[in-house]
Amino acid sequence: MQAYSYVDGKWHDGNPPVLGPLSHATWLSGIVFDGARAFDGMTPDLDLHCDRSIRSAKALGLQPPLTAGEVYELCLEGVRKFSSGTQLYIRPMFFAESGWIDPDPETTRFMLSVYESPMPDPTGRFNAMISPFRRPTPESAPTDAKASCLYPNSGKAMRLAREKGFENAILLDQIGNVAEFATSNLFAVKDGAVITPAPNGTFLNGITRQRVIKLLRGSGLAVHEAQLTVKDLMDADEVFSTGNYAKVQPCTGIDGRSLQPGPVYQRARELYWEFAHGKGK
Ligand code: PMP
Repeated sequence: MQAYSYVDGKWHDGNPPVLGPLSHATWLSGIVFDGARAFDGMTPDLDLHCDRSIRSAKALGLQPPLTAGEVYELCLEGVRKFSSGTQLYIRPMFFAESGWIDPDPETTRFMLSVYESPMPDPTGRFNAMISPFRRPTPESAPTDAKASCLYPNSGKAMRLAREKGFENAILLDQIGNVAEFATSNLFAVKDGAVITPAPNGTFLNGITRQRVIKLLRGSGLAVHEAQLTVKDLMDADEVFSTGNYAKVQPCTGIDGRSLQPGPVYQRARELYWEFAHGKGK
C-alpha cells in the first residue's frame, strides 16, 4: 500500500515512527483525528473534515499549531503525490506530546497520513446486530471530539457483531434509543419519510450525514431529525448508512429481520455522487 505521512513539517514515505512511550497521546489518548476521502479526482467536503479536526483538537483541550486552511492545503499536497483518481484515505491528527492527566496544549503536534484505500462498493449490502454496547453521554466521554479514545467500545461492538455473524453493529444511546452504526450514521425510511436520530451529543453528527440530509431535502424529500426507537427500526421500510469511508450503503438485515435496498437509499447515493462529482472540492 502506497502511503505518505507528514510529520513536523516534512513528508515521509509510509508510516514513520512518531509516538514514544512517554507521549501523552500514547499514555492517555491525548489524540484526535479526522478521515476524508479522495476518489475520481474529487475530495468532497474535505474542507469540513479539516475544520472538524481543529474543533476536535480544541474540544480535547489541545491547541492546534495549524489553521484549518493549512490542514486543507497539506491534505491536497498529500493527494497530489498519487496519480490522479487514486482512491485515497486522508487522515489528519492532532496529539499532545506531554501533559499530566490533561494534555498540555502547548505541546500539541500535527501529523497527517494519505494512503491508498479502495472505496468499498457503495451498493455493498451489510447486515447489523443491535449491540449491547452503547454510545457514551457527553458527561462520560468527550463525544464533542472525534477522539481516538471513543473507539475501543465501537471496536468491541464490531468484534461481537462479527462473532455473531453480522457485518456491522447498531449502537443505542444511554436511554436505549438508536444512535448510529459502529462508525457511520443511520437513516431509516417509513412510508416515504426519512428519519435519522437527532443529534443529542452521544454520537458523531457526521459530515456525510449532514450532506445527505441537505441533498435529500434539496430534492424535495422530508427528512426528520428525531428520536428513533428500536421498534421504529424494526418497522422501517429502508435503513441505510452514511459516512466518509463508504459514503451511502444499504443495511439489508437487522438482527433476524431482512430489508431490501430501497428508492430513498438509491436517491441518497445518486445525489451524493452527483454532489461529489459536480460540486465536491
Ligand atoms: N460515527 C462515527 C462513530 C464515525 O467514526 C464516523 C466516521 N467518521 C461517522 C459516524 C460518520 O461521520 P462522517 O460522515 O463525518 O465520516
